[in-house]
Amino acid sequence: MRVKAQVAMVMHLDKCIGCHTCSVTCKNMWTNRPGMEYIWFNNVETRPGAGYPKQWENTDRFKGGWVYKDGKLKLRAGGPVTKLAQIFYNPNMAKIDDFYEPWTYDYDHLIHSPKSDHIPVARPRSMITGKPIDKPRWSSNWDDDLAGGSETTALDPNMENLQNHITGEYEKTFMMYLPRICEHCLNPSCVASCPTGALYKRDEDGIVLVDHEACRGWRFCMNGCPYHKVYYNWNTHKAEKCNFCYPRTEAGLPTICSETCVGRIRYIGVLLYDADKVKEAASAPDPKALYESQLSVFLDPFDPEVIEEAHKAGITDAWVKAAQDSPVYKMAMKWKIALPLHPEYRTLPMVWYVPPLSPIMNHLENEDELSTDGYIPAIDQMRIPMEYLASLLAAGDTAVIRKVLLKMAAMRVHMRAKTVGGVDELNKS
Ligand code: SF4
Ligand code: SF4
Repeated sequence: MRVKAQVAMVMHLDKCIGCHTCSVTCKNMWTNRPGMEYIWFNNVETRPGAGYPKQWENTDRFKGGWVYKDGKLKLRAGGPVTKLAQIFYNPNMAKIDDFYEPWTYDYDHLIHSPKSDHIPVARPRSMITGKPIDKPRWSSNWDDDLAGGSETTALDPNMENLQNHITGEYEKTFMMYLPRICEHCLNPSCVASCPTGALYKRDEDGIVLVDHEACRGWRFCMNGCPYHKVYYNWNTHKAEKCNFCYPRTEAGLPTICSETCVGRIRYIGVLLYDADKVKEAASAPDPKALYESQLSVFLDPFDPEVIEEAHKAGITDAWVKAAQDSPVYKMAMKWKIALPLHPEYRTLPMVWYVPPLSPIMNHLENEDELSTDGYIPAIDQMRIPMEYLASLLAAGDTAVIRKVLLKMAAMRVHMRAKTVGGVDELNKS
C-alpha cells in the first residue's frame, strides 16, 4: 500500500442556481491578465448544451484522456509517437473559435460620440487583431439557460430535448447546470501528454500544476485533457489551468469558487488513496465498471493500518484528521451519492457530482407511494432523463444514477416529514 493524500471537491448539482458567481470571482483572481481573456478556469454550463469549448465532449479532435486497448492503457492524444510526428505543430489543438475571440468595446466611441438621434452603439473589437468584429459567436456561457434550444446546440446529441423545443412541447424540456473546473485527476492525461514535463501532480495534495519555466507552449496538454481544462495564454505562450487556489488552500482557506458560491453547492475535502492501485483502477476493460474501480482506490481514513502507512508516507495527523472529517469522503465513498464526471475518460477525476433530483414532474399523492419494496415511483417521473445523467456521470449506466437518486429522494421525504410534518400535512395545506 502506498498511501497518498488528495484534495477533492463535491458539487451538489441540485443546489446550483447558475449565477456564475464562481466563474467571475475565479476570473478576477486568476485569469484577468492579458492573454487570458477567453480563459475560464471555472465555467458553468447549461445542460443539455454545447459547453465550453464548443462541443468539447462531441468533437473527435478534442478527444483526450485514455483508451484501454490490447490490455493496455494508452493516451488518446500526445505521447511519444505523436510527440515526434508533431514536434513542430499540433494540428488537433482547439482553435480560438472553439472558445471565443477575446473582444472589448470601443469605449472611446461610446463615450465621445457626437450627439445624434440614436444611442451610439459600441462595436466589439478583437483584442487580437484590434479590428471590429461583427458579433461574438461563442463564449463560456453562450447557450445560458437555453437548454438545447439555441441554434448552436442543434448539434447536441440529446435530440429528444431539441425535438421538444421544435414541437413547442416546452413542458417536456429539461435543463440543469454543470459547473466545471480542472478535475485534478489521479491519472492525469494532461501530465502524461506534456513533452517537456511541465505539467505535474503535486505529491503532497495531488493538485495538478504547470511549471511555467518548463512550459514550451506545445499545447499537447490541451488535447491530452479530455475535459478541455488546460488553456493557452496567447500573451505569454504558456499553458494555464486551475490550480485549486493552492495559495489559499495552503493557508487553510477554501478555493475562491467555493467560498463565493451562492448556492453553497461546493464541498472541499481530503481523500486518502492507494497510489499503487491507480493504474489498475483506470484499466477496467468495461467503461461501466470504471466508477466502481475508481472507488476501490480509496482508503478508509479510520483504519489503523491505513493511518500507520499514511504516517510512514509522511502524511501528518492534521491531514489524516482532514480525511476523516472530509465531506467528500462521506458523499463519494460512504454514502455513494457523488459520482465522477465522465469516468470513461479513465483519468480518475477528483471533482464529484451529486446528480440533480429535481424537478419531479408529479407530486406524491400519499405516503404509500413513497416506498414499495424499496422503490420510489416518483424518481421515474423526473424531468431530467436518467439516461442523460448516466451519459454524464456513469458511463451510460442508469442503474448507478437510479441508486443515487433513490437515496436522495428518500432523504428528501425524510427531511420533509421531519420539518413540515410529512406528505399528508402538505396535501392538507
Ligand atoms: Fe489534467 Fe485537469 Fe484535465 Fe485532469 S481535468 S487531465 S488534471 S487538466
Ligand atoms: Fe452554481 Fe455556485 Fe457557481 Fe452560482 S456560484 S453558478 S450556485 S456553482
